[in-house]
Amino acid sequence: MVSMKTKQATAWNQILKMVSNKVDKHTFECFFEGIELDEVTDNQVTLVVPSSLAKQFFSHSVDASNTLKDAISNVYGHDYQNISYLTPDEAKLLRNHSELKKVTSYGEPQTNSHFFSNCKINPNYTFDNFVVGDCNRDAVRASLLIANSPGVAYNPLFIYSKSGLGKTHLLHSIANFYLEKHPKAKVLYITSDAFIDEFVKYVKGSQESQSLKDYFSDVDLLLVDDIQFLSDKTKTAEMFFYIFSQLFNNGHQIVLTSDRHPKDLKGLEERLVSRFYMGLSVNMQSPDTDTLLEILKRKIVSRGLDLKKFDPEGLIFIAEKFSHNVRELEGALNRLLFSLSSNENKYVSLDEVKATFSYLQGIESNDKKNLSEDDVIDEVARYYHLNSEIIKSKNRKAQVALARRIAMYLCRYLLQSSLKTIGKVFSRDHSTVITAVSKVEKELKTNTLMLKAVSDIKKSLKAA
Ligand code: ADP
Ligand code: MG
Repeated sequence: MVSMKTKQATAWNQILKMVSNKVDKHTFECFFEGIELDEVTDNQVTLVVPSSLAKQFFSHSVDASNTLKDAISNVYGHDYQNISYLTPDEAKLLRNHSELKKVTSYGEPQTNSHFFSNCKINPNYTFDNFVVGDCNRDAVRASLLIANSPGVAYNPLFIYSKSGLGKTHLLHSIANFYLEKHPKAKVLYITSDAFIDEFVKYVKGSQESQSLKDYFSDVDLLLVDDIQFLSDKTKTAEMFFYIFSQLFNNGHQIVLTSDRHPKDLKGLEERLVSRFYMGLSVNMQSPDTDTLLEILKRKIVSRGLDLKKFDPEGLIFIAEKFSHNVRELEGALNRLLFSLSSNENKYVSLDEVKATFSYLQGIESNDKKNLSEDDVIDEVARYYHLNSEIIKSKNRKAQVALARRIAMYLCRYLLQSSLKTIGKVFSRDHSTVITAVSKVEKELKTNTLMLKAVSDIKKSLKAA
């Protein structure tokens, strides 16, 4: 008598063989080979895939999951439309708690717990789709270092920036990167709000807070978003302090984010704040136009849209208008795509973009005062004791190149000249102009000499 198990194993071998004839060798070895058949019922097949990455792969690739469906249906002679993919951890968990079977999904905390059920790791936030520029390079480097070897170099890592600049994205990237290499690790992403909620539930539920502490004790990597919300929550902060110290003392990595530097976190005990200092604190700034433009392009491509359908000047217009906050930039893209949704194949011209954001015109500064590009160049030349013609030439001396960049910047921001016009005046192409303007923009954040030059030249121009 052939056992049920043996029958199932034979069937699975047949299925894998069929699949191997349909997909390339590399994909087969990476994603299909290690799959185990967990359960076959009348209308559902449950598979255990080797890692959370493989689970992501099957959840997102319609082709891959159809190939499996076809092979399974073929071998079992029954049309299976419903396939569940579990990571080995999830499978183990579900074996112990079969009543939870229906609720697993990628990104759930990897231990069975009623804690933090709303805090999931978002598989769409990865290092691969995070655009790196001067504004965030330090934070990305530190995050990558941590994701590669947590608990070794900087503990805790503290990332701070204004809202909408990618802190949450980076935390999830660290989690995804680490989990890809260590699918069995216990990685926990939580917001400090969720921590407060969980703590309050505990206090109200008159349960011992011990199990909340226990829950954290075997976390390999703890990612806590928006820690500033712990301010003035003395009891919760005390609990957090305990958990933090426990993990820290055991060499487990903690990454925290906040909208401000630790020293500006008010309403938190000194002993906690001083712990935040012990590792590394990195700041992120608003991106320059170049970086914003790249982010915008990536977001367009990630939505399956063709970049060629967008006028580059239109994209630059958006990047410049929504320059403070990447979240706002994405909002602007959504708005644009919504206004175009009736005609997806249309070319999106600069005029189209301007029309969509026409409501912004009223709040634009009106510094123009009938100045021309040549007026700006003349004034910059006067300031730097140069000849106007040399500024427009190809001369590469440092002082001339600096004056040229500042002139381009002023044409762009003071006169709001189009890139085409500036390009023509300086005999340069689009991308050279945008790079020059971005460079000035970047330097103005730290270079006080340049800031003074720009403001003096502006003053003289207005007096002219
Ligand atoms: P924060 O947590 O700092 O408020 P988020 O991480 O929520 O910011 O980022 C807001 C949005 O902007 C997210 O959709 C994120 O993907 C996107 N974003 C921010 N910075 C970048 C970047 N450098 N590259 C790609 N996307 C980014
Ligand atoms: Mg955030």
